[in-house]
Amino acid sequence: MAKVVVVGAGVIGLSTALALAEQGHDVAIIGAFLPGDQHIEYTSPWAGANWMSFALNQPDVEKYDGETYKYFYKLAESVPQAGITFRNNVIITRKSDADLPDKQLGSLFLKRGPWFKNLVKNYTPLTASELRSYPGEMAYGYKFLSFNINPSVYLAWLVSQLSNFGIRLKRVKLAHINDAVKYHPKGTPDYVVNCTGVMVSTLGGINDPNAIPIRGQIVLVRDPCPNRFGLDTMLSISGVDGSPWVQSETRQELFYSMSRGDGTTVLGGCFVAGDYTDSVDPRLADRIVARAKQYLPELLNEQGEFEIIRHVVGWRPGRVGGPRLEIESAPLPGTNVKVVHNYGAGGGGYQGSRGMAVTVAHIIENDIASKKSLKGSSKL
Ligand SMILES: Cc1cc2nc3c(=O)[nH]c(=O)nc-3n(C[C@H](O)[C@H](O)[C@H](O)COP(=O)(O)OP(=O)(O)OC[C@H]3O[C@@H](n4cnc5c(N)ncnc54)[C@H](O)[C@@H]3O)c2cc1C
Repeated sequence: MAKVVVVGAGVIGLSTALALAEQGHDVAIIGAFLPGDQHIEYTSPWAGANWMSFALNQPDVEKYDGETYKYFYKLAESVPQAGITFRNNVIITRKSDADLPDKQLGSLFLKRGPWFKNLVKNYTPLTASELRSYPGEMAYGYKFLSFNINPSVYLAWLVSQLSNFGIRLKRVKLAHINDAVKYHPKGTPDYVVNCTGVMVSTLGGINDPNAIPIRGQIVLVRDPCPNRFGLDTMLSISGVDGSPWVQSETRQELFYSMSRGDGTTVLGGCFVAGDYTDSVDPRLADRIVARAKQYLPELLNEQGEFEIIRHVVGWRPGRVGGPRLEIESAPLPGTNVKVVHNYGAGGGGYQGSRGMAVTVAHIIENDIASKKSLKGSSKL
């Protein structure tokens, strides 16, 4: 058993702490922001969220997302208080986007289907008549059994699971990663796990220059008929009217919706890399709403409008090169404490959370085992 300080109380930090506690480790969690807080530097409360893996030629991300799909399946089946609910997820590629190269089109909209078509339940290509039922010229599409994750409910459930292990969260903002060693109640820890999300770029001793925000903006609207399809549909359409799916390397706009089943639906959205704007772009909000009127007319009121609950902006914790899950070879200066990183989940922090958490637990188990075998061999 190791003493571990997890820095970060977003979905990644909480999931990692839970996976470590389940392995018998003695875990403490600190974070500048904690579940219940709402701040632009804390991404997890602002997510949609759903499972819709974006992995494209990224076997590690496929592993994280695949593991999490199985975990969410069990939660959706038997733990209603976790806020994970089954949903049909419909993904459609417009005719105008179908010939774009893979990298531009992205994993979800490929004609050959996404990597996860053999992993998920009920993967089914859409028929021609299903495609015709959507406005616009659609080339192909598919549906599969996915999940909606209600972020505030899921974060609260993770906290409740941690409290079953006696783990409490402490509000601390670190200036430097070295300072994390002070925060285990039982003395110097063996490991510090860095789950600081998008703010890793400002954390002393790490300052990862590859970490960048990927700005997202969504509109939360009232859903008067949350069970209209039995299993509520989530919908994503490649690109937006009048412009190709990929407008540039760093800016993408598309239509997506996620019914949460709690009387609200999320309308999205955009991915804008490197954009630290934290206020709502009203013109983008208008575009999101206008598109949604075409695809979700059943949610409009008698005046033909959505009842808007709120506009949301969040910074997804992007990282050039993808998520960073690895152990530093050298301990923190003057200590035997090793740092393990788990950040950079981008737009997939919920859908990959369990897989990333379990991977960190394996990294620590392997490190403990290699220390033991070193000790054993030095006695020979
Ligand atoms: C609009 C939008 C829609 C999204 N939709 C989806 C979706 O459908 N599916 C999906 O899987 N993902 C989605 N995401 C992405 C997902 O929200 C993120 O990947 C995830 O929340 C990242 O979690 P995290 O724990 O890494 O970061 P965070 O939630 O930001 O947590 C970081 C933690 O580290 C702490 N911290 C940072 N610096 C310090 C410091 N110096 N000292 C102490 N503590 C520190 C913070 O206070 C916080 O507690 C969406 C995101 C947005 C914005």
